[in-house]
Amino acid sequence: MTARLFVALELPAAVRADLAAFGHAAAAADPALRAVSEDALHLTLAFLGHRDPADIDPAGEAVRGVRSTAPVLALGDALWLAPRRPHVLTVALTGMLAPLHAQVVERLVAALDWEADARPFRPHVTLARVRRGARPHRELPDPQQAAFAGEAVVLYRSHLGRGPARYEPLARVSLSSQ
Ligand code: ATP
Ligand code: MG
Repeated sequence: MTARLFVALELPAAVRADLAAFGHAAAAADPALRAVSEDALHLTLAFLGHRDPADIDPAGEAVRGVRSTAPVLALGDALWLAPRRPHVLTVALTGMLAPLHAQVVERLVAALDWEADARPFRPHVTLARVRRGARPHRELPDPQQAAFAGEAVVLYRSHLGRGPARYEPLARVSLSSQ
């Protein structure tokens, strides 16, 4: 048995509400899309993948030891990933996220037998998923602009099955306000 783990930045409820409205509007206009539910919206900082459950405790300790002020972020443009053949509709985030991302990755590398993704970090929130075999229309309105602070870093266990993945929070650290 393995545990599918990832670490994410928690988003303020008001931002999740706005993003959920955008994702649900896109899905209502296009049957190829399935919106992500409001409570599941998050920004992935590190994807650990399927791990030995013995990794849960050290990963949780690594997350609880993160010390950072809450990064100030803004919503960017809607972004289809992968661009040529999209399977998700996301919104890009801009702002000073690199130091927090680097700290989270460094702490996980020190705590686990895990190597960070070599690809550049492109912060985004997934708003809707393309249904299997479907092709989405690409035209979208621009998302509403908003600036906000990330509130907490959370270690999640992802439970895949039929229907949407369920994310179980395992460890959380609040970020200090600026
Ligand atoms: P599903 O895979 O059933 O569509 P999901 O993508 O929401 O559901 P997971 O695949 O467990 O659930 O992913 C959890 C989080 O980690 C999501 O934010 C996802 O975008 C991200 N993620 C998944 N795989 C990778 C990967 N290979 N590299 C980086 N991030 C990933
Ligand atoms: Mg996935």
